[in-house]
Amino acid sequence: MKNNNSNLFVCERCGNPYPPERGICPYCSAAPKGNIRRSKIKTENIKKNLPNVEEARRLLDVKIANAKSNGIKIVKIVHGYGSSGKGGKIKIAIIKTLNKKKSDGKIKEWIAGDDFSTLDVKTQQMIKIYPKLKSDSDLNKKNIGISLVFL
Ligand SMILES: [Zn+2]
Repeated sequence: MKNNNSNLFVCERCGNPYPPERGICPYCSAAPKGNIRRSKIKTENIKKNLPNVEEARRLLDVKIANAKSNGIKIVKIVHGYGSSGKGGKIKIAIIKTLNKKKSDGKIKEWIAGDDFSTLDVKTQQMIKIYPKLKSDSDLNKKNIGISLVFL
């Protein structure tokens, strides 16, 4: 299991740590400045054991559930790509699954790696909430092998 302490938010007013999903400090009720989230970006590679489409979908579910239970707000899913064949099929399945999860309210938002750019409106909005995204290595790289999932 992950060390939960690393996912805690430290209150700017009283210095006590608390899980970021609480939104406000349970000790002194201070809200983070402008509700800016300092959540780290968790990278999850779901292609490393060369899964088939079903396995990839299942892995995606597991990774998202794990991140949620650890209070993580941003997961970078590395699903790979491929002009044809396995990688391409997995990417299509991941896109479908993420769209479904968003419409079911299971995730807040998601951004495809190819759209993850400072010119993209959705990315601009998420950078406002999660300034850490600005320094992400995949920003403006049109990395079609990843997707960013916001919980
Ligand atoms: Zn506090």
